[in-house]
Amino acid sequence: MPELPEVEVSRLGISPHAEGQIVTRIEVRQPKLRWPVPETIKNIEGQTITAIERRAKYLLLHTPVGYAIVHLGMSGSLRVLPNATAPEKHDHVDLHLASGKLIRYNDPRRFGAWLWQEAGSDHPALAKLGPEPLTDDFNVEYLLEKANGKRTVLKSFIMDNAVVVGVGNIYANESLFTSRIHPKRPAGKLTREEAEKLVAVIKSVLTTAIKQGGTTLKDFTQTDGKPGYFAQELQVYGKEGKPCPVCGEELEGVKIGQRATVFCPNCQI
Ligand SMILES: [Zn+2]
Repeated sequence: MPELPEVEVSRLGISPHAEGQIVTRIEVRQPKLRWPVPETIKNIEGQTITAIERRAKYLLLHTPVGYAIVHLGMSGSLRVLPNATAPEKHDHVDLHLASGKLIRYNDPRRFGAWLWQEAGSDHPALAKLGPEPLTDDFNVEYLLEKANGKRTVLKSFIMDNAVVVGVGNIYANESLFTSRIHPKRPAGKLTREEAEKLVAVIKSVLTTAIKQGGTTLKDFTQTDGKPGYFAQELQVYGKEGKPCPVCGEELEGVKIGQRATVFCPNCQI
């Protein structure tokens, strides 16, 4: 599943081909995505894409009259191809550009989304989102204030989009391991020192993943493969039963909020 780093790398891969381009036509071959693609998506035709912004795991294709909201869901990906490239299975949406290229959306599982929002207001999907993890709005004071008195376990807490966006399951596992904090600790028990560590680690884990994905930018203009999906160096995620990379103790696996959780019972307290 594409996480924040994959979505950010997709933005970086698509933007140079899309920004400043006029959308000549949008072709929706399959409107049944996670939500039905609205008729209003046609409003993008004839408009210039002024910027592509990422908010949480949404990509916002801004135009002077409104913006398209694209979510990659479980299996979605975007590519930039010559206009004449024949669609294949699961190629559900094409955005034809005046440059003679198109932005093609492929999504085998169809949990992704294409939505439209008129300029001047936020789409409801974006309304209740917490701060971006890589901005200064996500800081120690903020995290401590949010955590104050909360009994929610820390792993669920940092994965809550209303607290901070884009810390998916992989990055929650990795960040708590690197911060040496037990995933089941109540959020309200977080000390200042731990909050400092956790904020810094979340920023660094995500930044590293985006850098690793940067090597795949050329994939966005190739016809095969899944651009935006990349292998990352992970320490604990998916490594239940293996030795802890720090102390050698066997990594333990549990479910928290139905999500696979791996931690070191020795290092994480
Ligand atoms: Zn350990």
